[in-house]
Amino acid sequence: MSKKLDLEFVNLTKRYGDAVAVDGISHHFGSGTYACLLGPSGCGKSSTLRMIAGHETVSDGSILLSGRDISHLPPAKRGTAMMFQNYALFPHLNVLHNVAFSLRMRGVDADERKARAAEMLELVDMQPLSDRLPAQLSGGQQQRAALARALITKPDVLLLDEPLSALDPFLRVKMRVELRKLQRELGITFIHVTHGQDEALALADEIVVMNDAKIEQAGKTRAVFDAPKTAFVARFLGSHNVVSMPEGTLAIRSDALQVKAKDAAKLPGTITSIEYQGTHVALTAAIPGEQEVTALLSDKDFFENPKDVGEAIGLDWEAGAAHALAG
Ligand code: ADP
Ligand code: MG
Repeated sequence: MSKKLDLEFVNLTKRYGDAVAVDGISHHFGSGTYACLLGPSGCGKSSTLRMIAGHETVSDGSILLSGRDISHLPPAKRGTAMMFQNYALFPHLNVLHNVAFSLRMRGVDADERKARAAEMLELVDMQPLSDRLPAQLSGGQQQRAALARALITKPDVLLLDEPLSALDPFLRVKMRVELRKLQRELGITFIHVTHGQDEALALADEIVVMNDAKIEQAGKTRAVFDAPKTAFVARFLGSHNVVSMPEGTLAIRSDALQVKAKDAAKLPGTITSIEYQGTHVALTAAIPGEQEVTALLSDKDFFENPKDVGEAIGLDWEAGAAHALAG
C-alpha cells in the first residue's frame, strides 16, 4: 500500500427536515481497511454512506479523506465510488459499455475506455460475458459487473450498500469471499453497509455498530465481539447472553456458558428448549428474573451427558468470560 487512504468522520450529521438521521458521529477508519457499518434498519447507515459518496448533502460536520475535506466536493472529485444494492446497471447497454460508462462521462477516449473496462472485467472474472445485456446475467454476474463499474474510476474508497442482500444464501457466502479477496488485492478501503452481523464478522477488519443515528461502538471486529460495551451491541452481534445480576448487567458468550448440576453453579436454571444444530446443541434455560439464556454446547459435550426440557440445571462461567455492560 503506497498512499495513506484514511477516511475520517468529524461530528458528521444528516438531517432530513427536523428528523436527525445521523447525529454527530466521529470515527477514524484505518488506511486500506475493510470496514462494515452495521446496525438495524433505519439507524442511519445508508445516509452515512451517501454522504461519503456525495449523493446526499452533509448537514453538519465533515468527512476527510487522507486529511482532505471532501464534504462538499462533487461525487466524481472525491476519490470514492459507490456500488448500489440493486446494481443499477443500464438495461440497454452491454456489460462492457456499462463498465466503461463513467469514463465516457469523464471524456476518456473510446479505445482507452474499452481497454480499461476489459481490464476491470478481467479482475472480476467477467470478461467472457462482456457482450451480454444485464437481463442476460444471473444475480451474481450482475453484481460483478456493478463492481467492475464502480472500480473503473480507481477509487481510494469503495462504498457498498447492502451489496449481498439480493443474492441467495449460497451465492451470498461465495461473493462475500470474493469481496474480501478483491479488497486485499486492491489495498483500498471498503466501507460496506449491512444489517447482517454474520456478514460483518466474516468480512470486516473493523466494525462500526450504529443505533438510532449514533455510533454505539466501533473498533477491530474481534475486539468489539469479545467485549461489547452495551446490551444493544451484545444482542445485535448475537452469540451473547445479556444477564441482569444483582451486581449489574453482564454479557456472557453462549459458548462460554457451562451446564452443570443444579446447585453447583452461579445460577439455577430450568431447560426450556434444546435445539440440535449439527456440530452444536443450543440449550435454552429460564433463569431467575424472568430471563432466558442460551448455552451453545459441542455435540460431544451434550451427548456425553444429555439433558431434557424441564430439567433443573446450574449455569456457570469462568470469571473472565463475563463482561459488565453499560446500559
Ligand atoms: P439505514 O440505511 O440504516 O436503514 P437510512 O440512512 O436509510 O438508514 O435512514 C435513516 C433515517 O432517515 C430513517 O428514519 C429514514 O426513514 C430517514 N431517511 C432516509 N432517507 C431519507 C430521505 N431522503 N428523506 C427523509 N428521510 C429519510
Ligand atoms: Mg440502508
